[in-house]
Amino acid sequence: MYCPFCSASDTKVIDSRLVSDGHQVRRRRECLACHERYTTFESAELVMPRIIKRDGTREPFNEDKMRSGFSRALEKRPVSTEQVELSINKLKSQLRATGEREITSEILGNLIMAQLKELDKVAYLRFASVYLSFEDISEFADEIARLGKENLNRGSLSRRKNVDKKAIKNTGQRK
Ligand SMILES: [Zn+2]
Repeated sequence: MYCPFCSASDTKVIDSRLVSDGHQVRRRRECLACHERYTTFESAELVMPRIIKRDGTREPFNEDKMRSGFSRALEKRPVSTEQVELSINKLKSQLRATGEREITSEILGNLIMAQLKELDKVAYLRFASVYLSFEDISEFADEIARLGKENLNRGSLSRRKNVDKKAIKNTGQRK
């Protein structure tokens, strides 16, 4: 960047350190032309897609809102804050990785359900029962039945593969 004092383009970095928990780099620079010093901050641009709600309106992705959704589902469940934060970070990476500028609330809901399913089955069922629409209820009943069977057949890989296939098929039908 150009020197903010004399607009020369040659600057020298004289100090560089990580700030804000390593999420930013603070650099002290000196202009080679006028020798003025100034500071720059560098951080990754984390663009989250906007959310298209069921009624077609758009809203910015709201991390706090998502976190409170997790908390509600996980109330009085044996899951640590650290595990929750890890899931939320995973989810945010998935959202960024889509590379989309907008995604439907349905996709977001499915991603949240996938994370909750890994964290805690009860929390997953709580969230799904609120999130899924009325027409999904029969599928949801199947899902509960499948989870029951999954627990009984823990370790049976082939069965779990079938469950995954069905889950993907059902996601398609909801669209
Ligand atoms: Zn300068």
